Amino acid sequence: MTRLTPDVLRMRSSQLSLRSLAMEQSQQRTAAPPTIDEAPTVPLEAKDLRPEHFTQPYLDFMTHNPTVFHVVDYCKQKLLKAGYVELPARDSWTGKLVPGGKYFTTRNGSSIIAFTVGQAYKPGNGIAMIAGHIDALTARLKPTSVKPTKEGYVQLGVAQYAGALNETWWDRDLSVGGRVIVKDPKTGKTTVKLVKVDWPVARIPTLAPHFGIGMTGHGNRETEMVPVIGIDNSDLLGEKAESEKPVGKPGSFASTQPPKLVKLILSQLGLSDPDSILNWELELFDAQPATVGGLDKEFIFAGRIDDKLCSWAAFMALLHAKRAPTDGVIKLVALFDDEEIGSLLRQGARGNFLPITIERILESFCSSNSVPFGPGILGQTYARSFLVSSDVTHAAHPNFTQTNLPGHSPRLNVGVALCVDASAHMTTDSVSMAILDRIAELSGCVNQRHMIRNDSRSGGTVGPMLSAAMGVKAADVGIPQLSMHSIRAMTGSLDPGLGVKFYKGFLDFWEEVDLEWSH
Ligand code: ZN
Ligand code: ZN
Repeated sequence: MTRLTPDVLRMRSSQLSLRSLAMEQSQQRTAAPPTIDEAPTVPLEAKDLRPEHFTQPYLDFMTHNPTVFHVVDYCKQKLLKAGYVELPARDSWTGKLVPGGKYFTTRNGSSIIAFTVGQAYKPGNGIAMIAGHIDALTARLKPTSVKPTKEGYVQLGVAQYAGALNETWWDRDLSVGGRVIVKDPKTGKTTVKLVKVDWPVARIPTLAPHFGIGMTGHGNRETEMVPVIGIDNSDLLGEKAESEKPVGKPGSFASTQPPKLVKLILSQLGLSDPDSILNWELELFDAQPATVGGLDKEFIFAGRIDDKLCSWAAFMALLHAKRAPTDGVIKLVALFDDEEIGSLLRQGARGNFLPITIERILESFCSSNSVPFGPGILGQTYARSFLVSSDVTHAAHPNFTQTNLPGHSPRLNVGVALCVDASAHMTTDSVSMAILDRIAELSGCVNQRHMIRNDSRSGGTVGPMLSAAMGVKAADVGIPQLSMHSIRAMTGSLDPGLGVKFYKGFLDFWEEVDLEWSH
């Protein structure tokens, strides 16, 4: 790996000036800005990628894709534009896959696997994989989300997903989005539509300290953290509140939701009949756009950084990965839902989405190469593969230095961290560290180290469950951040690009590095 020398740091700090970069670009208005969040015609070498070119595309991605469904749709659109072919899970894949091809498949609209097949690929060759999670702490609408109006306030029934509705959710500007199941009354066809309201519609107000009840800690999540979404004072006139007069047929889904919200969602979707909505999975999200911050714009402040940071960087790395006629491996990125709640759902990493996708890829290639498909070829593939489990990690904190572990608490704007846990909450070991440090050396990256102190609790990742399910070598690699699991977190402004650089380096060089080992 590239050593962290004064020269490397100087280079990084000269790249830091996003302000200069912005000025540079505004002076050259005639030239189109580089669209580096699209697949380039001729990919650069990993060492030539400039991390600062990924800052603004990352901010845009974060602002416009607040829910897991929006992230999968974003990936899908980018992949289709880059010439990837969708492989629907319900169809047969036999005869559809060819060396040199680019494909993706999704599950539940909330997990996605994309991969490219090397032009020299043969069944039994390895797979360079990166896996991460795109779900984040959130507050989901309850099945019956309508609440009785209190003191003229219209409120919304929500339930926490993972550790949301924690103390950072007070006084935030919250909006609503997700997926809606819609039936067309004319055709009888049922479809899924995505929706996202572009102004804040909800807020969980604190109680002023004057009342003697401290609200900086947890409030009761069922009774004291109920979002307000509107005002209806019609009861003052002795009338039944408008907000309590259900829309839709009695017993319908719409009749169990706040009427004004049903009308808003209908208008967002260009629909009018409340009964065309069969159901929805809507959630609240912090509506504040992602932004750069700091005197020299060194930081990114955004919601949902865990883990739409490593996931986005890994996805960009696949779009920017090099493709050569001699490529003999499959390069794959898998982004999962439900990591924050244990991954044990069909779209989670503990489900069979990744193993069965690999089995189906292999089955298709075995059939076209007249090679018998079975445990033999599958075992051979897994033994020749490598998994990078990517999830954000904790950066060193300036105000709680007692939580930092010297030599193991990564800095912002330096590079990814290889995450080690002695009790195997992470997959990284001496073999996988040696491989990834060699990758860093070839791609001009600095690998930091992360380990939690013995007196702190380590979080988990999708790494152990996936590498155990497939038997592949693995390592955990994270981009550092602060304020993990807060509604508004931060990272370095170069960190998304430094992530892309490292993950691209892995996809570009893993086959070469694997050959350096005497197996
Ligand atoms: Zn998390
Ligand atoms: Zn995470």
